[in-house]
Amino acid sequence: MAQEKDVRFIRLQFTDIFGVLKNVAIPPHQLEKALDGELMFDGSSIEGFVRIEESDMYLMPDPNTFVIFPWRPQEGSVARLICDVYHEDGTPFAGDPRQVLKRVLAEAGSMGYTMNVGPECEFFLFHTDEKGQPTLETHDKAGYFDLTPVDLGENARGDMAIALENMGFEIEESHHEVAPGQHEIDFKYTDALTAADSIVTFKFVVRTIAQRHGLHATFMPKPIFGINGSGMHTNQSLFKEGKNAFYDPKGPLELSETAYFYLGGLIQHARHMTAITNPTVNSYKRLVPGYEAPVYIAWSAKNRSPLIRIPAKRGVSTRIEMRNPDPSCNPYLAIAVMLKAGLDGIRNKTQAPPSIDGNISEMNETERIAQGIPSLPGSLREAVTDLEKDEIIKEALGSHIVEKYLEAKKLEWDQYRTRITQWEIEEYLTKF
Ligand code: ADP
Ligand code: GLU
Ligand code: MG
Ligand code: MG
Repeated sequence: MAQEKDVRFIRLQFTDIFGVLKNVAIPPHQLEKALDGELMFDGSSIEGFVRIEESDMYLMPDPNTFVIFPWRPQEGSVARLICDVYHEDGTPFAGDPRQVLKRVLAEAGSMGYTMNVGPECEFFLFHTDEKGQPTLETHDKAGYFDLTPVDLGENARGDMAIALENMGFEIEESHHEVAPGQHEIDFKYTDALTAADSIVTFKFVVRTIAQRHGLHATFMPKPIFGINGSGMHTNQSLFKEGKNAFYDPKGPLELSETAYFYLGGLIQHARHMTAITNPTVNSYKRLVPGYEAPVYIAWSAKNRSPLIRIPAKRGVSTRIEMRNPDPSCNPYLAIAVMLKAGLDGIRNKTQAPPSIDGNISEMNETERIAQGIPSLPGSLREAVTDLEKDEIIKEALGSHIVEKYLEAKKLEWDQYRTRITQWEIEEYLTKF
């Protein structure tokens, strides 16, 4: 294929433990060597990978992920391959997030399940200044589903959808989101590993195309105070023998026992996996009442205020929508921990609490406590403490990633908590 399509460079891609995309470009004459897993790189310079004395890592490209970048010239084109990371002796590297997901998927496989995932990634488009640096300005005043014919954002969004389709994505819809400058492009659900690869690719494509329009795309969860932040709702379902295992026409709400146990598992582990699904200091500025982002741990088939919604579609589309993940997460790890929580629910027949169909954000604290509705962690620090307490979630991640991840997140929190913010200056400088 590389020969046929006149490929000049192939980018070998993988992510660090925080989901940041890394790559090394090779010319086609190195491809055979790469496909044989003989391409070595220095893992010690990748965040969360290894110490300097054990730094030789190997990239093993997954041939199913070969795709040509449509925005580059098609003569002398550029392609990519997503890779798994291995040690010199051929064993999988424990710090490779893609293999964490593969491991939990294999666990699901041993129980007879495959997982499907459909993410809804939201993002902002901002202007850049004369130096090309991103600003927080958007000249669009549009809102949900608006049509903005003169808006740069809409042109860019159209080109993003076209580029993604040319790379094999099946785009289901794209629209302006609630906040000015905020957009969403949804693609059709696929098996979980493809979905995680696609999320990484999606973010890269959106940012690249935005740049070509002179805009800056950001997946930062809450760039602006007082308006909606960006989520990455994660629709998920399990299939068994080709059928949707969450669907049972005779079950309550036409949901199977498996769906309820999976839901029970998600709810039981919700707080403990938030450090993975909502990994940054900024993530917790999104998870506040009033902006369509979840705060309370509950589920409903009727409304969108709780953490988990069961969309109305049944049959093959029966699914659970987890609404707290945000697009700053590492999708491999986020999907891995959600699946692990759900499988734990199935194994232990964890009962989901009754659904809460009223608007939880309108309840006061006493009412919520009376109904037994807990909250998501309020900060990265709380989330980290909760992750440390959950053996099942830690098992999904493996001890290497747990150690490196917690160390980095504690540092991130400390760096943030010791800074003096503009809010403090405005609030205290003249008062005291
Ligand atoms: P919204 O929350 O905006 O109403 P939707 O309910 O339309 O969004 O969900 C859209 C996502 O759900 C899409 O990515 C779609 O492909 C995905 N989806 C549909 N069926 C399934 C399924 N069986 N498993 C996982 N995801 C699914
Ligand atoms: N932007 C909202 C969030 O932060 C979600 C809006 C929607 O329901 O699509 O999760
Ligand atoms: Mg949305
Ligand atoms: Mg949604």
